[in-house]
Amino acid sequence: MMEDLIVVGNGMAGVACLEQILKHSPKFRVTVFGDETHANYNRILLSSVLAGERSADDIMINPLAWYQQNHVALRLGVRIVGVDPKRRTIKGDDDSITHYDKLLLATGSKAWIPPIEGVDKENVFTFRNLNDTRGLVHAAGKGVRAVVIGGGLLGLEAARGLQLQGCDVTVVHLMDTLMNMQLDATGGGYLARKMEEIGVRVLTSRKTERLLGNGHVHVDLADGRRLTKRVDYPLGNAKNRLKDSAVEGKFFALVERIIGKDRAEKIIELVWKLDEAKNVDELMQALQVPKKS
Ligand SMILES: Cc1cc2nc3c(=O)[nH]c(=O)nc-3n(C[C@H](O)[C@H](O)[C@H](O)COP(=O)(O)OP(=O)(O)OC[C@H]3O[C@@H](n4cnc5c(N)ncnc54)[C@H](O)[C@@H]3O)c2cc1C
Repeated sequence: MMEDLIVVGNGMAGVACLEQILKHSPKFRVTVFGDETHANYNRILLSSVLAGERSADDIMINPLAWYQQNHVALRLGVRIVGVDPKRRTIKGDDDSITHYDKLLLATGSKAWIPPIEGVDKENVFTFRNLNDTRGLVHAAGKGVRAVVIGGGLLGLEAARGLQLQGCDVTVVHLMDTLMNMQLDATGGGYLARKMEEIGVRVLTSRKTERLLGNGHVHVDLADGRRLTKRVDYPLGNAKNRLKDSAVEGKFFALVERIIGKDRAEKIIELVWKLDEAKNVDELMQALQVPKKS
């Protein structure tokens, strides 16, 4: 008898895993839930979409036809907000209830937003998904002054992309070394000089205090300086979404509460967690070289 396999997260890891399941163990009736509204795309290549080097179509990995050809039911724009492990059902934010025999959680990460006053203002962006990227491309342009808060890998990719879109870009980084998770002071210093050489202004050891205004936002730094600029707010720090999504904690806490820790482990065997979704308390620092899609 066919079992119901539900994949939560229509991202790179979830669908790559599903491709292998379909290839090696095609015994499931599969449904994929994704809270984004696009088919599966290569998130790594968003930087080149921001830079204007590729279109959104260029970075699609599995177009809608792939799901149809493989008899995979795709539920786009539906966020899973609850899991009932006793009944083996999941609940969507559209109030749908779906049964599973096996559940694959591949919910990835989300941009970490530091507690800075004013981050909810107009023209303040994160850089994590296709919609963010489209918003950034729309806001960017010749003469637009952009401030990127965070000089990690994604912040620098965003800075370069915005610059190629014609923006005048300043990177504000809290630590004294750019890409401090990967580089030492010498490497970070070299990188800062290279960024300055290509025309991106770099401010290290600077804390962003607050964002003021609307539309054209002012960025106040803790040293009293004010950057009167329109703000981009791409944050490279991908903390795990499971930590604060409804699928996450609630699910594990609930299972443990109902049946105790030992038996909970048995139920959790029916749930597979994948890639960034399994990394509940640690930051991911491993990197893959971007491939052409
Ligand atoms: C701009 C950018 C550049 C990057 N460059 C690199 C790089 O060069 N090298 C590298 O190794 N990595 C890079 N990364 C990181 C890489 O993209 C991630 O490691 C990878 O996408 C993780 O895959 P995933 O499937 O686990 O998660 P994701 O790609 O985040 O996919 C998870 C999906 O699940 C959805 N989702 C989450 N919760 C729910 C829910 N409750 N219900 C329904 N759907 C849900 C999310 O919206 C998302 O679509 C980059 C990331 C970004 C943003």
